Amino acid sequence: MRYLSTRGQAPDLPFCDILLGGLAPDGGLYLPESYPQVSTDDLARWRSLPYADLAFEILSHFIDDIPAEDLRAICRKTYTAEVYGNTRAGSDATAITPVTWLDAGEGSDHKGGLALLELSNGPTLAFKDMAMQLLGNLFEYVLEQRGEQTNILGATSGDTGSAAEYAMRGKHNVRVFMLSPHGRMSAFQRAQMYSLQDENIFNIAVKGMFDDAQDIVKAVSNDHAFKAKYKIGAVNSINWGRVAAQIVYYFAGYFGATASNDQQVDMAVPSGNFGNICAGHIARMMGLPIRRLICATNENDVLDEFFRTGVYRPRSSAETHVTSSPSMDISKASNFERFVFDLVGRDPAVVRDLWRTLESEGSFDLNQTPYRDALAGFGFVSGSSSHADRLATIRATRAAYGVVVDTHTADGLKVAEAYRDEAVPVLVLETAQAVKFEETIREALGEEPPRPDGFAHLESLPQRCEVMPVDVNAVKAFIQAHVAV
Ligand SMILES: *Cc1c(COP(=O)(O)O)cnc(C)c1O
Repeated sequence: MRYLSTRGQAPDLPFCDILLGGLAPDGGLYLPESYPQVSTDDLARWRSLPYADLAFEILSHFIDDIPAEDLRAICRKTYTAEVYGNTRAGSDATAITPVTWLDAGEGSDHKGGLALLELSNGPTLAFKDMAMQLLGNLFEYVLEQRGEQTNILGATSGDTGSAAEYAMRGKHNVRVFMLSPHGRMSAFQRAQMYSLQDENIFNIAVKGMFDDAQDIVKAVSNDHAFKAKYKIGAVNSINWGRVAAQIVYYFAGYFGATASNDQQVDMAVPSGNFGNICAGHIARMMGLPIRRLICATNENDVLDEFFRTGVYRPRSSAETHVTSSPSMDISKASNFERFVFDLVGRDPAVVRDLWRTLESEGSFDLNQTPYRDALAGFGFVSGSSSHADRLATIRATRAAYGVVVDTHTADGLKVAEAYRDEAVPVLVLETAQAVKFEETIREALGEEPPRPDGFAHLESLPQRCEVMPVDVNAVKAFIQAHVAV
């Protein structure tokens, strides 16, 4: 399987060559040259597989430059009940991504039912672990094979940084330098990251906002000599390996919620950078019977606007709202270009044109183009949610089903309810556990969210982090001092 750029002006490459990189050299994003098609036989065989083996079956269609037995071993090492054991009481950790019915609906096919697909039972209690843990093991494998090292540099406002650190801790040939905004993450998120004592993990708290931290990462990455000398890498949302790993749980969720492969389901996805739902789109393109992909946003509703109106108008960071579902406070969805490439019939010249328009005019409009009608064939619907909606949904879900959901999952539930009908079940992807966003849960319920075992004393563990001014050179000096070249 070769990977090509959405802008069509970069050489196509095999999986292991794009795994450690970011954007294609022409500024596009990598996608497989075609989507493998699943047959009814495949679905029948895969339905009863354990998660790790399902992951192997699906990923082996996308990865043919790692020997099959090695890839299978990596999947089995990644997806264990131990690593994904932070389930809610009564859920089955061996399922890795258990389905929890809130309302089981009617009959064996759960028509009209409503379920959570639990994706946040990994080490950092957010769905990003699902892909990042695999990435950690793939990185270690590929770097070892090639006798190379990488130093991952990133900026985080919470979930991504901790998922990356827990995936890379203790890994050979990998170091992580993670910038976070000093004093601006929740106590829980801070404790998750800063309590790591592994020698290859470096937390840098920048005295500024998330955007300042992000700008430092961009400045360092744009210094090509520094980047090459210090082998600076990234694990951000556009990494194809992350998207590929996320395809698997759409299949697992489908099997968990249906009794046979002739049924359809709707999937509702709390969305920010469009990485999670992009994996759902690919699963659907492969032939998984997803009726609708329900794209849920918070007050930052660029994606909802696009699916409703056909106009894509990313906002500036000054126009981005700070909300109580902070991991969706994104106004320029970095994976969106992957979907647009498929939407325009995989014509990179059209993608280049649209992004040129975006740069000169700040938006593009698909109305009066053939792509507006084509959009209907991709199964997307959308909606947005507000702080008041989140509070109401957290309360209602607790009252009706006895389940406490986090703020992002609440956005997904709110929008899913608006589209729910009697024809199929709807699965809401649970992207984090409530304990990560305690403040809003207290506001909604007047009580503390449940904490999985093992997290009881997290905030009292010793913490370790480097505090720095907003200064690119200070960060570079710190990396120089900790990397042998
Ligand atoms: C990252 C994240 C999202 C958004 O996912 P995207 O892939 O960026 O669309 C939603 N919820 C939580 C809890 C997250 O951490």
